[in-house]
Amino acid sequence: MSLTKKQLKTLTEKITAERDRLVASFSENTDDKYILSGDDRPDEIDQATSDYERSQLIRFRNRDVFYAKKLNKALEKINNAEYATCEECDCDIKFERLNARPTAELCISCKDEAERAEQGNFVARQSKSLGKQDNIVMGAR
Ligand SMILES: [Zn+2]
Repeated sequence: MSLTKKQLKTLTEKITAERDRLVASFSENTDDKYILSGDDRPDEIDQATSDYERSQLIRFRNRDVFYAKKLNKALEKINNAEYATCEECDCDIKFERLNARPTAELCISCKDEAERAEQGNFVARQSKSLGKQDNIVMGAR
């Protein structure tokens, strides 16, 4: 690990604060604040709306839970002195990168490569679904 003690301390505090903030928000946002009781839902439209809101909430929360897990994993790595090492190539991840993104598990070059691969998949998927849409439009004509 190439980090100084001071840098590591900065990052540890950052990660801990972020994790604690998320955990606090989990216990604050209990479901019953968002889900109306049966009496408050007079018709099906309201029902659909609250279902939608609920699914949005779950989606946001899943993302937060995922992030909290990543933060916990980063803290674990700090404890095991495995932090700031690229999972792909074992090189050191620079402080500047970790400061911007404390949960980074890949160095810049490995991340770039992974992102490029992801982008390639995305473009391929997108053009496939666009093709499908064209077929639907043509069939409707
Ligand atoms: Zn790497």
